[in-house]
Formats: sequence, C-alpha cells, structure tokens
Amino acid sequence: PNDLSALLATWKPTNMSRRQSTRKIYSPEEVRTAITNGELVNYYQPKVELSSGKVVGVESLVRWKHPQDGIVFPDQFIGVAEQYGLIDDLTRAVVNGAFAQCKTWQDYGLHLLVAVNLSMDNLTQLEFAGYLLATAASAGVPPERIVFEVTESRLMNQVSTTLEILTRLRLNRFGLSIDDFGTGHSSLIQLRDIPFNELKVDKGFVHGIAGNATLRAIFSSSMSLARQLNMKTVAEGVEDQADWDFLRKTSCMLAQGYFIAKPMPADEIPIWISTWEDKAKYLTKPLNVNA
Ligand code: C2E
Ligand code: MG
Ligand code: MG
Ligand code: MG
Repeated sequence: PNDLSALLATWKPTNMSRRQSTRKIYSPEEVRTAITNGELVNYYQPKVELSSGKVVGVESLVRWKHPQDGIVFPDQFIGVAEQYGLIDDLTRAVVNGAFAQCKTWQDYGLHLLVAVNLSMDNLTQLEFAGYLLATAASAGVPPERIVFEVTESRLMNQVSTTLEILTRLRLNRFGLSIDDFGTGHSSLIQLRDIPFNELKVDKGFVHGIAGNATLRAIFSSSMSLARQLNMKTVAEGVEDQADWDFLRKTSCMLAQGYFIAKPMPADEIPIWISTWEDKAKYLTKPLNVNA
C-alpha cells in the first residue's frame, strides 16, 4: 500500500504534464492588459483529410505570451474574459490576427481554411456579424475561407440574437462548425436551430475509438447524422496511429490531433506541411492492399 500511495502521489495525467506546472487563473486586470499590450498570439493546428492526408485548413487557438509565466493556455483566461466583459476585445484581437494570417498564406499560394473559435458571449449583439464581414472584406479574405467554431458554454440566454447572428454569418458564406459535438454543451438541439455546415466530434469520443465499442457507436451515429444534414465531419483528438487508421475506415472527412500536429506558431505551418506530406504518403496507403 505504501508503494502504491507513493506512486499515486507522483502520478500526473500525460496531457497535463505537457503543460506548464504553474496553473493559475488570472485577474481581469491582467487579462485586459494582455489584450491591450498585444500579448495574445494565435497558434494554429492543422486539419487534414483522412483519405488523402491533404492539409485543408488550420484552427486558430489563442495563447498568451506572458512576460513572466511563459505560454499560458486559453482555459486559464477565456473564462475570465467572458465573465468580465473582455471577450469582445479578445475575440477581435484573435479575429484580426487570424484573418491577416489567412491573407498572408493566400498570397503565398497556401489556400488554407482558417477556423476561429467564437464564444457564445460574442453572439449577443447583432452588429457582431457585420463586424466580422467588414473585417474579412478589409483583410482581403473571402468568407468561404473562414470557419467559425462554436461551443455552447452555458445555457443560451439571448437565443434569438445568437441564432440571427449565426444565420447571417452562414448566409454570407462563412463556415459554421459545431465544436465539441456530443458533449452536454453541444448537442442535438443546436443542430435543429443553427445552420451549421461542419460537425466536430469531441475528442472524448475519438481517442481510443479502435478499441472501444461505445465510442465507435457514438461516433458512427454522429457521422450518419452529419451526412443526412449535409455537414462536413471532423474528428478532434486523434492522438495515435490506431485512432488514425480506424478513422480512415469511417466516413469521417477530416482529422485533427496531436498525432498529426500540435498547435504551432503561424510561421511553422509551411515547413510542417512539407514534412507532413512525406509522412502522409505512408499513412494514406490504400486500405485494401489485397484488392
Ligand atoms: P477547442 O476549440 O475544442 O480546441 C481543441 C483543444 O484540444 C485545444 O486546446 C487543442 O490544443 C487541444 N488538442 C488538439 N489536439 C489534441 C489531441 O490530440 N489531444 C488532446 N487531448 N487535446 C488536443 P487549447 O488550445 O488549450 O484550447 C482549449 C479551448 O479553449 C478550445 O477548445 C476553445 O474552446 C478555447 N479557445 C481556444 N482559442 C480560443 C479563442 O481564440 N477564442 C475563444 N473564445 N476560445 C478559444
Ligand atoms: Mg475549436
Ligand atoms: Mg473542440
Ligand atoms: Mg473544446
């Protein structure tokens, strides 16, 4: 029993230990300063086609380059920003960075879809839709290149405004993705009301799918639902080759996860794509080698 308790005392889940060890929640003043001082940067994580390995896009994931604490992850400040009325400024900083980056890649001939995470708290004032359209236009980015990922983080309180903003965005040809699908926050009721064109299955139903019949059942019904609603499909949290190989046998179109790439600074994306393309040749060999 002594050995066991010693072992348990040192145990950390693997994906926590990859993160910085000091976990603190920041004050609203600190978060406000980070936004105004331009300390927020977007990292980008690739989304690739399961059949071909082709890199079709990236998701922007915000990081805070804290002058003392190093790289701070969004779960340590997004909630604070939402609670203290800072999320609009934060999202505008993220959106400006992501649209400009999309344009830069486009000018290099890299035609990537760029996904941006929105908070439900961004969707309370109708003019937000107009702001996004105007910003895309002035950045020189067609709305078709941008995907907004939405997770319902709590009960929707301004339902009709939220619906109207999202509908407007979709009518203006932005992509709309339901993020973390299958969790309590992103569920069927949202599919009824919001014109999403992409369904992202939560990582909780993806990693380990090859060896778990329950995950396979949930995943496959999500795929069939998406197909009937004409939605693109993405699996997030693809962490190993067993996940990847299994997903290739499903109808899921896109994959994202540490097995493919971790989120990285924008300037690493082009070089990552060239190394990935070599590796992808082996990962996308025909499934029926005997046929
Ligand atoms: P999300 O949009 O569902 O993003 C996926 C999260 O899973 C990211 O964490 C990503 O780094 C992580 N991830 C990617 N691949 C794997 C994998 O294979 N395994 C595991 N275990 N995790 C993986 P991150 O970057 O810490 O972001 C966490 C959440 O913070 C995001 O979840 C999103 O809801 C929110 N967020 C990130 N950036 C923004 C932003 O600019 N604005 C807003 N409003 N929210 C953001
Ligand atoms: Mg997301
Ligand atoms: Mg997600
Ligand atoms: Mg999430």
